[in-house]
Formats: sequence, structure tokens, C-alpha cells
Amino acid sequence: MRVSVDGSRCIGCGMCQAAVPGVFRVVEKVSTVCAQPEKAQEGRTFDAANGCPVNAIQIIR
Ligand code: SF4
Repeated sequence: MRVSVDGSRCIGCGMCQAAVPGVFRVVEKVSTVCAQPEKAQEGRTFDAANGCPVNAIQIIR
């Protein structure tokens, strides 16, 4: 799985960072991907993508 964040959509709510802090990091109200998810993080990463209120998180594959 690879994941990306569309910073132009992100509202900085912090949900993704709270769900998977090793993958997402919110800096100055914009989430960024700090590391691609390990196998054990994929479920929570998928949930974060589904839960993002502005659909800013894309699962690439
Ligand atoms: S859940 Fe979505 S809106 Fe919230 S910080 Fe993450 S990418 Fe941004």
C-alpha cells in the first residue's frame, strides 16, 4: 500500500495523525505522509483515509 495526502484539501483536523502517527504528521495545519505504511499499519491507514472529513487521503495501491 502507498498513501498520499492532498495538502490543498486537508483542513488539519489531526484525525489521521491520531490514527496512524507513524504515517501521518500534521505540520502547520497540513497533514503530510512521513513514512509509507508498514503492513501492520495498513488497516488503520485505510480507516484514516475513509474517515478523513474532506477526502484528502488517497490510497494509491
Ligand atoms: S484526516 Fe484529512 S483533513 Fe484531517 S488532518 Fe488528516 S488529511 Fe487532513
